[in-house]
Amino acid sequence: MSTQQRQPHVVIFPFMAHGHTLPLLDLSKALFRKNIEVTIITTPSNAKSITQHLVNSPTIQVIEIPFPSNGYGLPKGCENTSQLPSMDLHFAFLSATKQLKKPFEDVLASMSASEAGLPLCVISDFFLGWTLESCRAFGVPRLVFHGMSVLAMAISKSLCQYMPHLKPAASQNPSSLDLPGMRVPFDLAISDVPESIRNLDLNNPACQFLWEVAEADVNSWGVIINSFEELERSHISSFESFYHNGAKAWCVGPLFLCDDDKKLKDCEKFNNCNQIKHSLSTMQWLTEQVTPASVLYVSFGTQADVANAQLDEIAFGLKESGVPFIWVVRSTTWCVPKDVEEGVKSGKGLIVREWVDQRQILGHRSIGGFLSHCGWNSVLESISAGVPILAWPMMAEQPLNVKLVVSGLGAGIGLNWADWSGRRMCVPREEVCDGVRELMGGEKGRRARERAQALGRAARRAVKEGGSSHETLNKLIDQLCGVS
Ligand code: UDP
Ligand code: UDP
Repeated sequence: MSTQQRQPHVVIFPFMAHGHTLPLLDLSKALFRKNIEVTIITTPSNAKSITQHLVNSPTIQVIEIPFPSNGYGLPKGCENTSQLPSMDLHFAFLSATKQLKKPFEDVLASMSASEAGLPLCVISDFFLGWTLESCRAFGVPRLVFHGMSVLAMAISKSLCQYMPHLKPAASQNPSSLDLPGMRVPFDLAISDVPESIRNLDLNNPACQFLWEVAEADVNSWGVIINSFEELERSHISSFESFYHNGAKAWCVGPLFLCDDDKKLKDCEKFNNCNQIKHSLSTMQWLTEQVTPASVLYVSFGTQADVANAQLDEIAFGLKESGVPFIWVVRSTTWCVPKDVEEGVKSGKGLIVREWVDQRQILGHRSIGGFLSHCGWNSVLESISAGVPILAWPMMAEQPLNVKLVVSGLGAGIGLNWADWSGRRMCVPREEVCDGVRELMGGEKGRRARERAQALGRAARRAVKEGGSSHETLNKLIDQLCGVS
């Protein structure tokens, strides 16, 4: 690519969901430290929280473009999927983001007219597939960011291609799906297939949308992956084979570890922000739990709707296990059952309803396990901290992440959350309790902890000078700058 006389400048356009935005903020900081100018494009209310996160990197520019407020049935002021009252509105939200195309192109046009000129590339979230057309119009390479594991993406792509043939076979043998052209290091069952793929129907507008973003994805210049080569080596080339034009998968993660040395300073500066204030009292509670690796951390991420009846089962299961816990609850309609509340009051557990600093919690010596939905960020954060996972997927590609964590990496234990046909079941309190006890005190839990700790060491090596992710990021920058 010829990039002479350009400023080394990159535009990043995250999707408006925490799990998609946070790793791209880490990437922005990593690029910034390598003397690349970064401009983040987002909507006004997301710009506010992004600016807070970037308090130590004030030269990263944030440009606001308006989010369409009408016509999609979204609540007023809702600019982030974590603010959706229900995931039923997810497709409406995705559709609304298409209205960002014109203002996005206006930003590129003004860059083009400025002295600095167009950026070296646009790094765009997978869901913002329409950015490909804009990038082409301006002659700027588009790098796509998934925020998922290579394995989950590769399996999803393969499934989309072969699902019509697999369906009849799967109904005969639901516990074993064979994917042509892919070596998957464990058995796949129909329940592992994301629902959007299992029910693929191109007459359905939501499927059509996914189809469009997948098309834009495979026609992009390259893919940025928040994972590391040592974790995904066996299937990176199968994954790349789905891309046209020889696009490369750049594994540069875990991105949040790239920022490790600055973390402490970030927290000090964040003292005035309510989110972190709360997190500090959480940390205090954790520090009071003197036995190392004795506390279970429980969170199902920022998107999943967990039914109140299921939250009750979790509450009683946790209580019954006798294991101290920190549980981040998103539901605004669920009340803690009386019995459980008494236990909480006596210091056995902490139920938090605000944002916490999950990475800091997982890094605390008192944490010994994570009951998690296995969103990809949570998986990376948990293994990086050497914390084994009690895996319970809630949606999207999470069942595939669970397979990777439990069967592929051996860093966790799975709960029985679906029947043979993949239908979600309520997990009863007894099973929650047994799973927690096994993870925190059983032989399977001990082995998973050892594996998570080894993977954590490998993750830290990957981002250090000379490590695979560190070198890959350097190569990517060189290539964008036209050095190689
Ligand atoms: N690992 C892997 N693929 C590799 C290298 C490592 O999956 O190519 C995983 C492996 O499963 C191992 C973990 O990363 O358990 C840590 O690897 P290693 O044994 O090199 O680290 P150590 O235990 O010496 O810190
Ligand atoms: N997170 C956090 N505090 C919270 C809730 C979530 O720091 O109270 C972070 C978490 O550390 C992770 C991200 O939000 O980085 C959630 O991403 P993930 O992929 O795990 O799940 P999702 O929310 O996308 O389902």
